[in-house]
Amino acid sequence: MNEAKPNKKPFVLYVVIVLGITVLLNVLIMPMIAEAQIIEVDYGTFMSMTEKGEIGEVQIQNNRILFTDKSGEQIYETGKMDDDDGLVQRLYNSGAKFSGEIIEETSPILSFILSWILPLVVFYGLGYFLMKRMNKRGGGNTMMFNMGKSNAKVYVKSSNGIRFSDVAGEDEAKENLAEIVDYLHDPQKFREIGASIPKGILLVGPPGTGKTMLAKAVAGEASVPFFSMSGSEFVEMFVGMGASKVRDLFRQAKEKAPCIVFIDEIDAIGKKRDGNLGGNDEREQTLNQLLTEMDGFEGNGGVIILAATNRPDSLDPALTRPGRFDRRVPVELPDLKGREEILKVHAKKIKVYGNIDYNRIARMASGASGAELANIVNEAALHAVRAGRRSVTQMDFEESIEVVIAGYQKKNAILTDKEKMIVAYHEIGHALVAAKQTHSAPVQKITIVPRTSGALGYTMQVEEGNRYLMTKVELENRIATLTGGRAAEELACGCITTGASNDIEQATKLARAMISRYGMSEEFGMVAFEAQTNRYLGGEAVADCSAETHSAIDRMVVELVKKQYGKASDILRENRRKLDTLAQKLYEAESITGDEFMSILEAE
Ligand code: ADP
Ligand code: ZN
Repeated sequence: MNEAKPNKKPFVLYVVIVLGITVLLNVLIMPMIAEAQIIEVDYGTFMSMTEKGEIGEVQIQNNRILFTDKSGEQIYETGKMDDDDGLVQRLYNSGAKFSGEIIEETSPILSFILSWILPLVVFYGLGYFLMKRMNKRGGGNTMMFNMGKSNAKVYVKSSNGIRFSDVAGEDEAKENLAEIVDYLHDPQKFREIGASIPKGILLVGPPGTGKTMLAKAVAGEASVPFFSMSGSEFVEMFVGMGASKVRDLFRQAKEKAPCIVFIDEIDAIGKKRDGNLGGNDEREQTLNQLLTEMDGFEGNGGVIILAATNRPDSLDPALTRPGRFDRRVPVELPDLKGREEILKVHAKKIKVYGNIDYNRIARMASGASGAELANIVNEAALHAVRAGRRSVTQMDFEESIEVVIAGYQKKNAILTDKEKMIVAYHEIGHALVAAKQTHSAPVQKITIVPRTSGALGYTMQVEEGNRYLMTKVELENRIATLTGGRAAEELACGCITTGASNDIEQATKLARAMISRYGMSEEFGMVAFEAQTNRYLGGEAVADCSAETHSAIDRMVVELVKKQYGKASDILRENRRKLDTLAQKLYEAESITGDEFMSILEAE
């Protein structure tokens, strides 16, 4: 970490304020306190006290008389009368002591030190201490002294920096970024030929796929400083702070060039600006500042900006236009091979027992992101510790997949016997329909142990390899498989339950997509009736058609799902005996593996 220099200006201001306070104290407050100790009395009282011999010490000044009572504790003051001739004699007679100074004057040097130097020293010390502490805590950004300074984290090249080899999979992204590393190593090569490297590169992909890691790895490979800041950090608290933070970040970066500036969640500041009144002014100012800064430096200045986002289509066009973030590097969810590599990278950090079949784990964790896989490995290690083992086994891994993907095993959820039976039929229904349709992926594991996620049972299907394309038949089969649970319930106990709600949702979504997006209906053909807004975050589909078409689509969705439900019911009816045996087996064992399932299914 590179410690930021404390900004001198606010400190000077602070000293000036302290000086002001000290002057005020000395000129106004101190005399008031001193005066407050003196009681003013009239001349008559003074005379009568003299008469009664109650005066202790007395001091006659030019225009007033100061005196104390006999105890000498209280000081009184009265005006001086010119015509009182025998006063001194009378005072003498009453036994009063004449005193040079009743009010004790401390030595002028001491009093100067006490009232001027001491407060200054105390305030200075206090201010210095506070500033140091805040600097330490806020990484150089303190509310009081350093408003608007960027608190970008700086990692100067270090021996334990992240390298490309730490990022598993993502070969395309790495290849893309290798050019940047090359440039940072030898900018001259690029300059000579007249090529300019892109100023900004957008890393686009779903959360947890290693975008931050890749950016750090670029800095690590090129051994240049790495500044990182999250888009949401720019937009904070006070209006105008964001813009000045951007300015500060780039000032720091230019000093350290060549270097990498990484802005995470750039969509937080770079969202499309709309014409709405009362929009987010702060965000807009910050964005404008960012654009200005990006235009401000030369393409070959050595500052390279990497930014991450999972919603590239929501970015302001001004950001993505040439000369700014004009290069896009997709960082996708890992495929089977990638998942296996990521698991291996993370498994290096834990103690494993014997040979672990990472391929099998990777296949079970289809769709998991890098971050989720890292989590699975960690959960496996935790599971091993809980079981009192000293190293992690294959079983720990498999259990942890279910934990991460399906929620923790809910040991104390109690199903009634009847419920358990229905759930067993439901899950076997899915599995049986899947297995009987040649194109469906075989079953890995079926369990009816409830999960905290709310699922009562769970059928884990394994995809053989990666699927990029699905045929119409495969999609239909998937819908049939999804309806298989409900079909089995109906067949077995003649009743239907709420347990199928998730299946219904998924089946409906698939069916709708087939008709309105994949062009798989005979009636409409290749016409899209839905626009998908956000490909990377689940993607909501927005209907884009007339009301009549809409209702026609609805009708077709119903027909499609009904047809598949019928198909699933037929399959189950034909295999009624197998259905009963399997459900009974699952009911007893609570969980059966794919192999057990297949052996029962194929046995005659
Ligand atoms: P993003 O910035 O895309 O949200 P991160 O880079 O912050 O994701 O990744 C989060 C964590 O996930 C990393 O710290 C790392 O442990 C793990 N991870 C993600 N992708 C990979 C990968 N390709 N190889 C190894 N670990 C990864
Ligand atoms: Zn189901």
